[in-house]
Amino acid sequence: MNESIHGEWAASDLQDRVSELQDRVAELIEQQTAISEVLRAIASSPHDLQPIFDALLDNATRLCRADIGGLRLFEVGGLRRVAVRGDPLWVSQAVSSIPVLVDEGGFPSRLATSRLPTHIPDLTALERARRADYWTALENIGVRTALTVPLVKDDEIVGIIALLRKQLEPFTDKQMSLCRDFAAQATIALESTRRERQYREMQTALAHANRVATIGQLTASLAHELNQPLTAVAGGGSAALRWLARQTPSIDEARSCVERMINDANRATRIIAGLRDLTKQNAPRVEVVDLNEAIADVIALTYSEAIKSGVTISTRPAPELPPVQGDRVQLQQVMLNLMVNAIQAMSSVEEGARELQIRIETVPSEGGVRIGVRDTGPGLPPESLPCLFEPFYTTKPDGMGMGLSICRSIIEAHGGRLWAIPCEPQGALFQFTIPADRTDHP
Ligand code: ADP
Repeated sequence: MNESIHGEWAASDLQDRVSELQDRVAELIEQQTAISEVLRAIASSPHDLQPIFDALLDNATRLCRADIGGLRLFEVGGLRRVAVRGDPLWVSQAVSSIPVLVDEGGFPSRLATSRLPTHIPDLTALERARRADYWTALENIGVRTALTVPLVKDDEIVGIIALLRKQLEPFTDKQMSLCRDFAAQATIALESTRRERQYREMQTALAHANRVATIGQLTASLAHELNQPLTAVAGGGSAALRWLARQTPSIDEARSCVERMINDANRATRIIAGLRDLTKQNAPRVEVVDLNEAIADVIALTYSEAIKSGVTISTRPAPELPPVQGDRVQLQQVMLNLMVNAIQAMSSVEEGARELQIRIETVPSEGGVRIGVRDTGPGLPPESLPCLFEPFYTTKPDGMGMGLSICRSIIEAHGGRLWAIPCEPQGALFQFTIPADRTDHP
């Protein structure tokens, strides 16, 4: 009899143990899913922190059984609210009654700088003095239990996560440790976004430096190119004055002189505007770009360098080119690099015609526009092909070897491809594609 009771207890013990383990496994799976969800948000949104913070707070609020979760980040002047998630009614109450920026001397900021999680099982039990500002506001919207965990990066407090409950129900140790994990994930997301931003800023600065350096190689011919229209304007002005100073002033002749002067002045203005655009350091921007026009501006800039090097440029613009989306200056930079490289390559060729052909065409099979820059220079030896687009690959005595590598990153950032092939009987062909802009524009 005793044995059978003993056996029954053992069986029910085992049953309890099994269901306890099942609960634990379910809980771990839930936590694992939450972590994967946040990591996915971090991976798929490297530039935008908002979806990451939202996913993180959704999971923290749900897994820690809170009613509302908030995330604040330190900035000059205090802690700024960057995300609030949870019960929608409560979220809107919290958003309207608690300030977006809690000043540095405020209680949450002091809490954060203590570096430790702070658990307040019963807000109403807090001494009045400590309940000033923030906590009173929380209490007023019905918060009873609160947990705050600081975000710590390299020993520096960067923000705070707060989980709140309407019920008087203290957070468990497990929930507090989970909240600490979420705070660590928020810190990782902040850091990876900061690095991504830093990387992009460095790339933009490098591209700008390369653009300025390429323009620098054209300075002598550009000065000449600008000198021409300016001299023509001055000459046209004198001629117009002479026509007007005649005994019977010839208004028609004077007018045509002035018209030519306007054309010349416009030519100079176009070159200066093109130079200004390419040398300014602007943040990358996305706009609708007419490639025919953007490329024509680059040809105007390189024209006199080509003439100086005995190169003739022929262009075949596409009549019905679809617009593309992108950064006009960056796309012009690619063209400028390819054209200057081609002109320089041909300068080393003693014999044969020096021809630079630019072909712009719509390629429906590639879903966009393809640009080709073909020269009759020495071409590309087979061993150079794998290294052409590598940073610091150069065969020029004063080359940097960054141009083609930057061009490729620009084109790839625009969703296109850039490649090079040797041509027969001589020369090189560099081609790139840019996907057509699929959005409708008025
Ligand atoms: P850099 O002009 O400073 O050398 P790039 O990255 O623009 O840097 O070019 C890398 C190398 O690719 C050049 O040094 C040259 O050897 C080769 N190259 C680029 N364009 C051409 C071309 N059109 N014909 C032959 N070689 C080229």
